Amino acid sequence: MPELPEVEVISNFLLDKIKNKQISSVAVNNWYLRVPITGDIDDMLKGKVISDIKRRGKYIIWHTDNNTAIIIHLGMSGKLIYAEYNQVQNKHDHVVFLFSDNTSIVFNDPRRFGLIIVLNKEQEVNFFDALGAEPLTDEFNGAYLQTLLKNRKVNIKSALMDNKLIVGIGNVYASESLFRARISPLKPAQDLTYKECEKLATEIKNTLSDAITAGGSTLKDYAQPSGSAGYFQNSFYVYGKAQKPCKICNNIITHIRQNGRSTYFCNVCQN
Ligand SMILES: [Zn+2]
Repeated sequence: MPELPEVEVISNFLLDKIKNKQISSVAVNNWYLRVPITGDIDDMLKGKVISDIKRRGKYIIWHTDNNTAIIIHLGMSGKLIYAEYNQVQNKHDHVVFLFSDNTSIVFNDPRRFGLIIVLNKEQEVNFFDALGAEPLTDEFNGAYLQTLLKNRKVNIKSALMDNKLIVGIGNVYASESLFRARISPLKPAQDLTYKECEKLATEIKNTLSDAITAGGSTLKDYAQPSGSAGYFQNSFYVYGKAQKPCKICNNIITHIRQNGRSTYFCNVCQN
């Protein structure tokens, strides 16, 4: 499942490829994603120019010249595929955005947990209202993180993965950030000291930024829209490394389940 870095890589790629392009049609082959696609999507978007592309959490937002926002979430298995022509359609190609220069973006999603919705400015603000903090912003620092974790009895790993607190961090980047900060994933969130919060905020930023630079992590089927794989998985310290030696201390990496999700950590480096 793509997390913040993968979505950021995709957003940046799209910004480069389709900014200032005019949509000539939106063809829908399958309307039933997580939420059904609005029946008038083609009428709403035909002729609109993509003015900007942003990321908020794990959502990709295409803004158009008339203040409409196309909000896309990739769910578990969604992909946005760019082509320099109106490409031949494959299985699970649910939506095709065709631009006036004959390039196109295809939304492909075998599991159909993805989302494509069209919102006006006000609806967009409301839609993102409940989302938590963006970890790559300047405001996100140790003091801010400590405020978020106050009175949270849940373990720190689950807190990091709670999108109402912080957006975009899933299983992979929670495990890696906690390792880099040398904090146990078992520790109750509210027990982190100010110093630990500072360290963790810094390491979350470092981990996410390094992953973006590496084009994301390719674990199963994630690929950048250019088709190339990400390579941050080569820099993992703990994720997926059960029974392997810790790169720092040689201790064997522990694998446990927390809230039904796999957690990997080094119980020597992280305590
Ligand atoms: Zn270790």
